Amino acid sequence: MKIYNTMTRKKEEFVPIHENKVGIYVCGPTVYDYIHMGNARPMIVFDTLRRYLLYKGYDVNYVSNFTDVDDKIIKRAIEEGVTASEISERYIKEVKKDMADLNVMEATTHPKATEEIPDMIDMIQVLLDKGHAYEVNGTVYFRTRSFPGYGKLSGKNIDDLEAGHRQIKVAGEEEKEDFLDFVLWKPKKEGEPAWDSPWGPGRPGWHLECSVMSKKYIGDIIDIHAGGEDLIFPHHENEIAQSEAANEVEFARYWMHNGFLKIDGEKMSKSLGNFFTIRDIGKKYPLQVIRFFILSAHYRSPLNFSDTLVESTKASLERILTAVSRLEEISEKAKDREMTETEKETAAKFSDYVDKYEAAMEDDLNTADAISVIFEMVKLANSAIDGESAKALVQKAYSDIEKLCDVLGIITKVETEILDEEIEALIEERQEARKAKNFARADEIRDMLAAQGILLMDTREGVKWKRA
Ligand code: AMP
Ligand code: ZN
Repeated sequence: MKIYNTMTRKKEEFVPIHENKVGIYVCGPTVYDYIHMGNARPMIVFDTLRRYLLYKGYDVNYVSNFTDVDDKIIKRAIEEGVTASEISERYIKEVKKDMADLNVMEATTHPKATEEIPDMIDMIQVLLDKGHAYEVNGTVYFRTRSFPGYGKLSGKNIDDLEAGHRQIKVAGEEEKEDFLDFVLWKPKKEGEPAWDSPWGPGRPGWHLECSVMSKKYIGDIIDIHAGGEDLIFPHHENEIAQSEAANEVEFARYWMHNGFLKIDGEKMSKSLGNFFTIRDIGKKYPLQVIRFFILSAHYRSPLNFSDTLVESTKASLERILTAVSRLEEISEKAKDREMTETEKETAAKFSDYVDKYEAAMEDDLNTADAISVIFEMVKLANSAIDGESAKALVQKAYSDIEKLCDVLGIITKVETEILDEEIEALIEERQEARKAKNFARADEIRDMLAAQGILLMDTREGVKWKRA
């Protein structure tokens, strides 16, 4: 597989450190609120990378952290008059729910920064001992100029950075030896969570957390380090400086960065206020549509969000799902006989499409092209397969399409039996949608239930239902 490596700015053949094993570290969210669609992009993209590597037979160790101590969390806790850990625990739960609804697999390990403090203190100590860090009044700084490779990922020149900053003096930075130095440990402020350390009570810097958690759960050298492109500088540059200065080996072999999800040409972000949370968008579209939408573009390209685009993605996805369920239906009555010569040719075309799909994924995870291949398969299935086809052909088409959708995290299997409590939860959601005058969603739920053979009856005692 070829991966575009931000470090070398080239597509390179992916070779893991240990045969058949891949260690992936993806910088996770800061948990102070619901995640928005932009935050979901790296989750979906790198989950798809993981699924593709699993499909290729790799053993994948996927580590993604939760940053659960941070200024934003503390600010929110103060606003609500609760503890910081109450905020972070609440949003870890909510983020995990959104991830599950987006069909993002659970990480092999989901470390939380606050549970790894002793290892963070150890790494800071190593950096101090090696002369890469220094302490002033309870703050420990990384001595950036002591690491010769600084700037290699972002392509920034250390002297240009310095020159650009000379005019801008930042309060509280007077004590630093050099403005390029960044914090490894910050001292406790009144009312903030803190841990004991040799430099007094305080908390770790954000960049340090990832260096420590990736080392602990993957090792000194990571195969693939990933995140959004805004993390290249300074976050990933600082991670490299810390890890390579401490461990004295290359930190990550391949660096992958996703482009931004945009809205009206601007990055979707909390600070600009132009965002949709996954929770809200999930009320409008099944989240599988959102996942499919995110994968419809190459992960390094910017992707513009619009309702029109998502609507058309929804229609495209339905085309696939309809074709798969038609194949499933046909398969039950298809003929148990040898394939004809023409059918053998059709079956061979499906195998060629599987190869074409893999070639797209091997080319720096080109999910956009991979999806086009699935559409070609759907077209072929719709035109060349019907109730008279040989069972083996129907089943091959069905399982090929299903397996390739599964690599994208798209579920094609129709649940055959919907449980009573699921029906009741949907009915309740429909009632709420009606109350909120979201009739589109209310109708969607009714149609969804109807498709499963559930009939709704509005009675004076409320909504009743029965299986048709
Ligand atoms: P944050 O919680 O802001 O640190 O973001 C968590 C992850 O989401 C990081 O990998 C960011 O790069 C990524 N991210 C944030 N906004 C966007 C966006 N609009 N498009 C794509 N990725 C984003
Ligand atoms: Zn990180």
